[in-house]
Amino acid sequence: MSELEALAAEIAECTRCLLHRGRTKAVPGEGLPDADIMFVGEAPGFHEDQQGRPFVGAAGNFLDELLEMIGLGRQDVYIANVIKCRPPGNRDPLPEEIEACKPFLDRQIELIKPELVVTLGRFSMARAFPKARISRIHGQPRKIGGVIYYPMYHPAAALHQPSLRRTVEEDMLQIPELIRQAAQIAESELPPEAEQLKLF
Ligand code: URA
Repeated sequence: MSELEALAAEIAECTRCLLHRGRTKAVPGEGLPDADIMFVGEAPGFHEDQQGRPFVGAAGNFLDELLEMIGLGRQDVYIANVIKCRPPGNRDPLPEEIEACKPFLDRQIELIKPELVVTLGRFSMARAFPKARISRIHGQPRKIGGVIYYPMYHPAAALHQPSLRRTVEEDMLQIPELIRQAAQIAESELPPEAEQLKLF
């Protein structure tokens, strides 16, 4: 069993926060174990909880379309979430849930070693950019600790707000160029908030 698989097995049994009580299945994440690009969403929804797989509902279909626009499929990337169990009624994750699950996402990033972490939505963005507003910083890469963090709107936001669709597509279309230019992107100075989060 690989370390990533062992971690997934640990996540499946996790009882660190109360969300484990309501889950059908935990959703550790899936994809290429040494992917260059990792997508990090928010939390499992109904379908993800049923299947134990990330992004398998409507937002997932849109994510598939976005990947296809840049010539990629799920098998070429790794897809995970900030929290691994579904919040009741798909409510926003609570700070204590995010904190309880943080070591899992930290470890996934350590093991996969992606060049680019694409954060989908504000909860995922907040890991690397705690005080930022997504409307201001989406589509702007920033290299922190050797990894490029690239904030995008959550695909579900574009489904609920059709005016965002073009923005999400445009941000996605920049990804191949970001990967090509990865070595040239300058390291950012660590924001103090990031130190506090012990992200790096
Ligand atoms: N939304 C997410 O953020 N993650 C999923 O896995 C599905 C929907």
